[in-house]
Amino acid sequence: MNKLPQEKLESKLSNCKYIFVVGGVISGVGKGITASSIGLIMQSRGYRVTSIKIDPYINVDAGTMNPTEHGEVFVLDDGDECDQDMGNYERFLGTDLYRTNYMTTGRVYQEVIRKERNLEYKGKNVEVVPDVPLEVIHRIKEATRITGSEVTIIEIGGTVGEYQNVLFLEAARMLKTKHPADVAFVLVSYLPVPSTLGEMKTKPTQYASRTLNSAGVQADIIIARGATSLDKKRKEKIALFCNVPDENVISAPDVKSIYDIPLNFEKDKMGETLEKVLSLPKRVADLSDWKKFVSKTKNGKEKVKIAVVGKYFDSGDFVLSDVYISILEALKFSCYKIGVGVEIACVNSKDFESKKIKLSMLKDFDGIIVPGGFGESGIEGIISAIGYARENNIPYFGLCYGMQLMVIEYARNVLGLKDANTREINPNSKNLVIDIMEEQKAKIENKNMGASMRLGAYKALLSKGTVAQKAYGTNIISERHRHRYEVNNAYRGALEKAGLVFSGLSPDGKLCEIAELPSDKHSFFLGTQFHPEFKARPLSPHPLFTAFIKACKVNKKK
Ligand code: GLN
Repeated sequence: MNKLPQEKLESKLSNCKYIFVVGGVISGVGKGITASSIGLIMQSRGYRVTSIKIDPYINVDAGTMNPTEHGEVFVLDDGDECDQDMGNYERFLGTDLYRTNYMTTGRVYQEVIRKERNLEYKGKNVEVVPDVPLEVIHRIKEATRITGSEVTIIEIGGTVGEYQNVLFLEAARMLKTKHPADVAFVLVSYLPVPSTLGEMKTKPTQYASRTLNSAGVQADIIIARGATSLDKKRKEKIALFCNVPDENVISAPDVKSIYDIPLNFEKDKMGETLEKVLSLPKRVADLSDWKKFVSKTKNGKEKVKIAVVGKYFDSGDFVLSDVYISILEALKFSCYKIGVGVEIACVNSKDFESKKIKLSMLKDFDGIIVPGGFGESGIEGIISAIGYARENNIPYFGLCYGMQLMVIEYARNVLGLKDANTREINPNSKNLVIDIMEEQKAKIENKNMGASMRLGAYKALLSKGTVAQKAYGTNIISERHRHRYEVNNAYRGALEKAGLVFSGLSPDGKLCEIAELPSDKHSFFLGTQFHPEFKARPLSPHPLFTAFIKACKVNKKK
């Protein structure tokens, strides 16, 4: 696993600047993208930037949260299982983040209690206030110190007025009191347009601002999210009632691509406003690389159609695609690079099982992707979709579970091991082609389930001339993992004899990290035990996603 950078980078600023991003009115208002965009805007001015996400949950990390409840679990190089917004920060900033960049209520309390047990409070009463907020501040400063950040963006999860995030707001207030010139608050609010009125309403934002005031915090900048742009009249109204200058109210209408947002913010002088609020000198932003990338997002009249066959799409009557956000973004980056557009359909594998949809619907797609996942539900539907892709020469890309299920499909239908399975689903199968990793056995027995998978970045060696090796253009890679099961080596020989190639192995040769069919046997049939989507970035798309999209493009022509 990767280590934290050892020595502290010397900051050119006398004090680090802290920008807190909080949300008002509704959840899902776009705090994460706002925080990411602000990070990019400050980075484009030459500052070293780092971003912190605060999740108000008791969970120590996101690893124990169901994706249909919380969205994607993102994994960092150092193995931290965190909120999907950490992925947005990494993608916008183009940098790796660390465990110290993420905190939850559980993680903060765990540390306060550890310190108390260790007599680190030297016999005094340990109180919710101020000791919990002080621990939060300590963590913010640690993340700043370790990354050598000059501008640290801190996103506080949840919405102002909730009970859950008050201690984090209290920490922010305390930090502002100590460093008045170095702390800024950005309130991301929402302006509804009720269909019966047809008019954008500012009152909920006024209330959100006042609720923030009651926590002792005054917003410096208000981001007015809404279906459309904010007009002058409403901008002035918000400014007047929320105690900010007019120019500190920034309009943020819905956009087609989230990658436009930093540029839209800049049009509204976000960077300059932040410089003023934080007493920073005026600097010129260099967003040229980002602009080049954004211009590519507008190209691509020809579109590839990709089916993401997953099991975590259903949320009541709604379809959740946030669960696979890193995959969706990784697909887009590679499409932009190649110059094709992309149409992504979320296909619920359970619908194949219930016969709500037919497998043959997959023939309308240029490529099929199966994401990671856990447990039994929807799995037979996925396996039959993989079989369909293999038999019909449709490009297939399997990620983690998607690789394990690809091996199971191959074992069942090519090797003829009809009951081939993974121990995760059926421990009684005679042919466990996917089995528990040795190191995981005791953890499961002892019910040690938090942060105990094989997590984070590991190296793998690639075999020359394989699809994977050609795509990467290198023989050694490092990718992020999150799993307990792996290909059972007892079946490796038989699978290879039957044509499957294990093109990527752990350096000791014991773990199969990539499985594929050779390019003369299939247009693209490849699965990875790791999650390449976590390392795909706008300015450096992931080579395997790019190879997959290239194959989809060729398939489309046919
Ligand atoms: N459930 C599988 C495992 O634990 C795959 C995990 C995943 O897809 N991230 O090995």
